[in-house]
Amino acid sequence: MQEKKVIVIGSGFGGLSVASLIAREGHKVIVIEKNEQPGGRASVWKKNGFTFDMGPSWYLMPDVFEKFFAEFNKKPEDYMDLIRLDPSYRVFFSQDDFIDISADMKKNYDIFEKLEPGAKQKMKEYLELSKYEYDIAMKDFIYKDYKHLTDFLKPKLIVEGTKLHMFEKLDSFVQRYFKSEKIRKILEYTIVFLGGSPYDSPALYSLMSHVDFNMGVWFPKGGMGKLVESMYKLAEEQGVKFIFNEPVEKIIIDNKVAKKVKTNKKTYDADIFIVNADYQWAESNLIEKKYRTYSNNYWEKRKIAPSGYLLFLGLDKRIKNFKHHNLYFYPDWDEHFDDIFKKAKWPDNFSYYISCITKTDSETAPKNCENVFVLIPVAPGIKDDEKTREKYYKKTIDHMEKLAGENLRDHIILKRIFAHNDFSDRYNAYKGTALGLAHTLKQTAIFRPKHQSKKVKKLYYTGHYNHPGIGIPMVVISSQILSELINQK
Ligand SMILES: Cc1cc2nc3c(=O)[nH]c(=O)nc-3n(C[C@H](O)[C@H](O)[C@H](O)COP(=O)(O)OP(=O)(O)OC[C@H]3O[C@@H](n4cnc5c(N)ncnc54)[C@H](O)[C@@H]3O)c2cc1C
Repeated sequence: MQEKKVIVIGSGFGGLSVASLIAREGHKVIVIEKNEQPGGRASVWKKNGFTFDMGPSWYLMPDVFEKFFAEFNKKPEDYMDLIRLDPSYRVFFSQDDFIDISADMKKNYDIFEKLEPGAKQKMKEYLELSKYEYDIAMKDFIYKDYKHLTDFLKPKLIVEGTKLHMFEKLDSFVQRYFKSEKIRKILEYTIVFLGGSPYDSPALYSLMSHVDFNMGVWFPKGGMGKLVESMYKLAEEQGVKFIFNEPVEKIIIDNKVAKKVKTNKKTYDADIFIVNADYQWAESNLIEKKYRTYSNNYWEKRKIAPSGYLLFLGLDKRIKNFKHHNLYFYPDWDEHFDDIFKKAKWPDNFSYYISCITKTDSETAPKNCENVFVLIPVAPGIKDDEKTREKYYKKTIDHMEKLAGENLRDHIILKRIFAHNDFSDRYNAYKGTALGLAHTLKQTAIFRPKHQSKKVKKLYYTGHYNHPGIGIPMVVISSQILSELINQK
């Protein structure tokens, strides 16, 4: 095998994983990152003794990480301590009305049965199907590259796709099983983490219930930043070199072949170029128009996943009523989904997520303090200014105080708001999206942007815009698919 020089643009999970996989084959890999640290959307912000995960906080699908580390004869536990959370999370319907989803399924069955007589049996059936979907999807759909429409429209896949409820919407699918609105909300909300709405996402994503109930919710001690550190260390062990604080400004193409990248400091040549920066931004900003695979019109027609209104809060006390992961569902939650996916406006009322990682790891904050992360999903591409940010800060704290049943505002000793403009400035996110490209049927598998440029040789892409999509496990798989594609050449 001839050693090649490979440049990866961006050190998100896509960049970190692809770099290791390519370097393992004996190639010389350099990762060039715009920001000061690896991890991309999973950056870490440390201030005054608090350690905040700025993006992902749910370590799900542990099997994917095991499979990835096994490629290097390693285990995730060689690099970090993984803790299974119990309860997995708390769901609030109001201050006094909440449910703890347990790591023990027997307890969950009893809870569900109380919410709807007969739901225990139905939940067993639902989870069996969800596991079946997960197993088939992982075996036949997800770890697979789709180059041509015929790869996707194979009769076997269509038959399997029907069995997997690919062509049905998640909400109507869940409604066939359960009448209880609370159960339905619990089962449907995970789709928001994949950037979708239950009204517009394939029912296949009910497989997320297998992920969340059967496989469990995990946490790397120290925070999700430890997963970044682990993948970074693994990459260095494979010989990958990293350059930080150096945004790539141009990919230089000569006669339809990628030749060099130009950063704000210098020019690097290589044999292969892999873009992990957001696909839309990279194609529109790094490449000459004639070499772009996708036009502006193409991107305008895509369903872009939500942005997030985030709060990183340090409190000088602990909050009794909250667990590690907390979800609040607004009673008329359709209103919020409409504001995100149909009306594209800031929501008057919203469902949201609060995490307090200090419940599991007190070392992520000073003694007796609480590390609080808040996420409200909001439409991409809407106006993000100081006035709106402060308005939502007040609204959110007002509501959190109701859920917590105690004063919080006077205990906030550290505050940072992060929204659309920050996603765009820090990660070059199109319309300030937190998550990239939504998971609608028309944006699944073959219908997601390709791993390989159609017009430029030696130019490839990995990350949340590619198949299989959003979420750390999916992004790692995206890199596994791409590295196979490159290593076959
Ligand atoms: C708030 C939030 C919560 C989430 N929660 C979860 C969760 O709980 N669990 C989960 O699994 N997933 C979650 N996700 C999704 C998950 O974080 C993403 O799908 C994943 O991290 C995306 O990885 P990526 O490598 O595709 O992109 P990114 O992480 O965005 O990486 C791209 C990298 O490219 C760099 N870059 C951009 N432009 C340039 C340039 N010109 N030159 C050099 N570098 C450049 C960026 O700085 C960045 O480091 C969450 C995401 C967010 C934002």
